[in-house]
Amino acid sequence: MMRAVTLLRYGGPEVLQISQIPIPVPKPNEVLLKVHATALNRADLLQRRGFYPPPAGASDIIGLECAGEVAQSTRNWASGQRVMAILPGGGYAEYAAVKSDHLMPIPENLSYEEAAAIPEGWVTAYQLLFYIARGKAQEKVLVHAGASGVGTALIQLAKLKGLKVAVTCGSQEKIEFCKNLGADLAINYKTESFKQKVKEFGGADIVLDCIGANYFEDNLDAIRLDGRWVIYGTMGGHQVNQVSLRGMMGKRISLISTTLRNRSDEYKADLVGSFIDDGILDAFRNRVLKPIIYRTFPIEKIAEAHEIMEKNENSGKIVLKISN
Ligand code: NAP
Repeated sequence: MMRAVTLLRYGGPEVLQISQIPIPVPKPNEVLLKVHATALNRADLLQRRGFYPPPAGASDIIGLECAGEVAQSTRNWASGQRVMAILPGGGYAEYAAVKSDHLMPIPENLSYEEAAAIPEGWVTAYQLLFYIARGKAQEKVLVHAGASGVGTALIQLAKLKGLKVAVTCGSQEKIEFCKNLGADLAINYKTESFKQKVKEFGGADIVLDCIGANYFEDNLDAIRLDGRWVIYGTMGGHQVNQVSLRGMMGKRISLISTTLRNRSDEYKADLVGSFIDDGILDAFRNRVLKPIIYRTFPIEKIAEAHEIMEKNENSGKIVLKISN
């Protein structure tokens, strides 16, 4: 048996509880991991409330990423090897069964807690910027929620590959935080018009949008001719009224939406392979990139950790320590 975070029922942070449940049994193409640390993602809050069920066949335990050690050797992975992984579910637990080709070795200089802050946020950011938006050096990218887990990865990846980055966020503290990470322009959306500021910046070749409905018109104004606009979250609502398709055609905009969690295993393996082959793990090893941890909580404090994310307090990731 193992300890895991389960739900008393769907609801607020108070429904999160620690339970004893069976250790997962890995399928032939899976590796059993002893999880040392995991991290929170915005989707976890939705799943806790019953609005984001796991894809078919995935664990119904919350948790989209983990870092730990291989518990049983397989053909490709040795027992005790330090690894991290994206998961369709099951991260908030002492053990997780993970697809063999969704694993990445942890760079030697990173702790389990630091490694747990990487997989979901960074692989998503890599996918958005390079797989989907096809970002290139010198292009300008607008990143909403710049201080989020995904946003802090996007800023660093964009700078690594020579793009110029504008971000939006909701406090002066987060503005300074994003600038320190390398953002060329950081806009407080509560006190300034981001569309105005981004236009002064020269417009955006790429808009990476996790806000959705209430930014729709301003994004349309801020984006440039032939811009790529990727919707990957709807924190600001999902119902858009009165869209001007003429305005979109006039700018020849590509509007793309994406989710990572329900992609095929093959797609995820390919994405993880590209992430490694492109030297991203080496950049962590060389300290050119850094996982950003806001706070670390023991698993027993899971409700407090969820409350902090729900209040939009974090800059970077909230990590959950599962075991030593
Ligand atoms: P996070 O660390 O919890 O950060 C989210 C931040 O977004 C908040 O701290 C807040 O910062 C800002 N925010 C929240 N509601 C807002 C609103 N209505 N308007 C403007 N800003 C708002 O989030 P995360 O885990 O990195 O995830 C970020 C986004 O990526 C989420 O939408 C998530 O669902 C999405 N995501 C999508 C995929 C995918 O494959 N499609 C994968 C991973 C994540 P401020 O204080 O600056 O407002």
